[in-house]
Amino acid sequence: MDGFPVKITEAACLGASLALSGICYYLYRKSRTTLDKLDDAPHFAIDGKLKDILKVTPGACLQYAVVEGAVQPAGEPLTSHFQKEFVGVLQKFLLREHRLVWNSLSRTWADSERVLHHRVNAVPFVLVGSNETTVRVLCPLQASGLYMETTHEKFHQVNYGLGDIIGQYLSGEKLKGQLETEEMLKVGSTLTGVGELILDTDGTLNLRPPSDGSQYFLSITDFDTLLGEQESIALWWKALAIASALAGAAVVLWVGRRYYYELKLRWEREQERKAFERLQTEGSQARALVTGSETPQDGAEEHIENACVICLSQPRNCILLDCGHVCCCHSCYQAFPHRRCPICRQSISRVVPLFHV
Ligand SMILES: [Zn+2]
Ligand SMILES: [Zn+2]
Repeated sequence: MDGFPVKITEAACLGASLALSGICYYLYRKSRTTLDKLDDAPHFAIDGKLKDILKVTPGACLQYAVVEGAVQPAGEPLTSHFQKEFVGVLQKFLLREHRLVWNSLSRTWADSERVLHHRVNAVPFVLVGSNETTVRVLCPLQASGLYMETTHEKFHQVNYGLGDIIGQYLSGEKLKGQLETEEMLKVGSTLTGVGELILDTDGTLNLRPPSDGSQYFLSITDFDTLLGEQESIALWWKALAIASALAGAAVVLWVGRRYYYELKLRWEREQERKAFERLQTEGSQARALVTGSETPQDGAEEHIENACVICLSQPRNCILLDCGHVCCCHSCYQAFPHRRCPICRQSISRVVPLFHV
């Protein structure tokens, strides 16, 4: 029996789906852990009591806590470049170029994007609660979550002349225009922060990225929305992990099915060969009774005259039914890739031995 017949494409598909399902499962576990930590994180109001709680906490530090307050700059705020009435503490400016590039494989124009300019400005800021208690937010750009809102978005379209259009068709690239966006975390927005709360030696409260590697969140939505977003991310990873595991299982089933049919075919051919040999032996015995000799009377010369059209070394010893052609030996017949007569292409339903008397 030959080794297990796995094709390179099947092995590649199986490997890719297993690797993908492993990665998705890892990301699912990671988002699930984040979700559990968010669920367990205690919520604190920013007020005088928060300092008292931290004073009695070992290390004056709460590993993972949720606070909510209004954004206030610690110094001068940033002003929007486009809407002078908007002031904020974080500002992200992005200029992206949009092009259409001709894809010769799919014969279509595909969108392509390139960042031309990216700038981030930040000023120190605090979250203000009741009684003028504040929590300083450290490293806000390391946080995940939706904490900026779009304050400006404009698409600058490019106008072309006839010469440009011809040039674009020849080069296979069309410039669509440039998209200019500005995002800001505005002063006065209510911000939910999830991270490590620490009371500094100078008595200030700080929110910073957790030192145990947990995810740091800042969001202008409320805590429940933040939790809902994380839940849907975890669900997506779970669905992708299941889908890729199913794809892997489908490849295994496909290989198994092919292997089963191959084994079945080999078994059928073996049965057929045995039946053919039995018929041949019975025929020889019958001929011996008639002629008194087991070997055919027409000797080696006849064999060459009637040699199998495929191997040219064995005598033609089988009749292909239903067409009735006698053209090959039984070993060549068994090696046919398809059960079709090599002379007339008619499908072969049965093979019987040929006897010369
Ligand atoms: Zn042959
Ligand atoms: Zn035929």
